[in-house]
Amino acid sequence: MSWENLIRTKEGYVKVLDKVLSTLPQTIGKAGDRLIVLKPEILHESRRTIVTNFKELAEKLNREPAHLAKFISKESGKPGSVGGERLIIQGRLTNEEFRRLIELYVREFVKCPVCGGLDTKIVSERRLRFLVCEVCGAKSPIRKL
Ligand SMILES: [Zn+2]
Repeated sequence: MSWENLIRTKEGYVKVLDKVLSTLPQTIGKAGDRLIVLKPEILHESRRTIVTNFKELAEKLNREPAHLAKFISKESGKPGSVGGERLIIQGRLTNEEFRRLIELYVREFVKCPVCGGLDTKIVSERRLRFLVCEVCGAKSPIRKL
C-alpha cells in the first residue's frame, strides 16, 4: 500500500505519524557546551514495545538504564525490563508517549531546578536521594523510585 493510501485510514495515519516521530531527534537541552539530543528507536512487536537503543539514551542522560526503566514502568503502568541495549515494555507505548516520559524524567531526575543545567548526578544520603548540580552546586531532594 502506498503511504498516500495508508494515511487515508485513521489507523494508517497513526502508524505513519508514529514512524515519522520515531525518526525525529528529541532535543533535551545543553549539558555544559554539549547538546543532548536523543533519537529513541522504538519497535512495536505485537503487544510489546521495544526501545532498541535504550542503554544509549540513558547514558546520554548520564543515568543508570535501570533507573530510567523503573521510571518508565511506574509512570506508564506497564512493566519493563532492560536486556543488553534494549528496554522491553510489556504493552504498547506510542513513540509520542515514550518521548513524553523521557521529558518528564529529565524534568524530575536530570535537570537542576535551580539553574536548569543538565550536568547533574543522583546521590544517596542515608535513605534520601538528591540531585546534585555540577554547574551551580545546588542539592535538591528527589523522590526515590
Ligand atoms: Zn544548577
